[in-house]
Amino acid sequence: MCRHLAYLGPPLPLSRLLFEAPHALARQSWAPKDMRGGGTINADGFGVGWYPADGPPVRFRSERPMWSDPSLPGLAAVTAAGAVLAAVRSATESMPVTSAAAAPFAEGPWLFSHNGVVAGWPDAVTALAARLPTRDLLTLDAPTDSALLWALVRHRLRAGEPPEQAVAATVAEVGAAAPGSRLNLLLTDGARIVASTGGHALSVRGGDGCVLVSSEPLDDDPGWRAVPDGHLLVADAAGPHLTPLGRA
Ligand code: GLN
Repeated sequence: MCRHLAYLGPPLPLSRLLFEAPHALARQSWAPKDMRGGGTINADGFGVGWYPADGPPVRFRSERPMWSDPSLPGLAAVTAAGAVLAAVRSATESMPVTSAAAAPFAEGPWLFSHNGVVAGWPDAVTALAARLPTRDLLTLDAPTDSALLWALVRHRLRAGEPPEQAVAATVAEVGAAAPGSRLNLLLTDGARIVASTGGHALSVRGGDGCVLVSSEPLDDDPGWRAVPDGHLLVADAAGPHLTPLGRA
């Protein structure tokens, strides 16, 4: 499955997270260490979203492997941001490989990524999808499980639900409709990060006014903590907070 990360803190060049850290996201795309049976490498596209000083986040996405994009290293070296969400994708069998299917998905201040798979796709979740406005279904980013999960979370955000509730409720309803799904979701508005663990790895490093959440630790800093499965993580620059899912 995919690998994803989110950062909040003092502005740093995107290249630090994507290329320079010992186990940076580009390295996790070709040499991930903890895929838990969900694929081998993450070569089916990538996306980087970051928050400029003003206004909504900016995205750079592609259907190429992150390591082979000729423009990204230069762009990442000169672009600094204090809030970032990035992902590399390993497409689930039968799902299209296009830039539109690569996270982050976005609307307004929100950036979203999914690491995992909806079991029994698409039949298991047709009834859930039918509760969305028809327009949302006609304009899904891509015909993939991750894009539907984003539409479900976004629907709740648009209705004014707090992000931690939107993520926890979506994990609960999809988990009930499609048991055996892997549901590591990652959402940020540039001021806080909400992430779920449901079948895949996730680690967090917080403190010193910054927080980094990543499928796999970016380095061997002893501050990294593995997030246990079945948890909801809410983090801002003050640090991370964990709650068991189901009691969120
Ligand atoms: N099921 C997702 C997709 O194909 C996969 C995301 C992942 O974790 N590989 O887009």
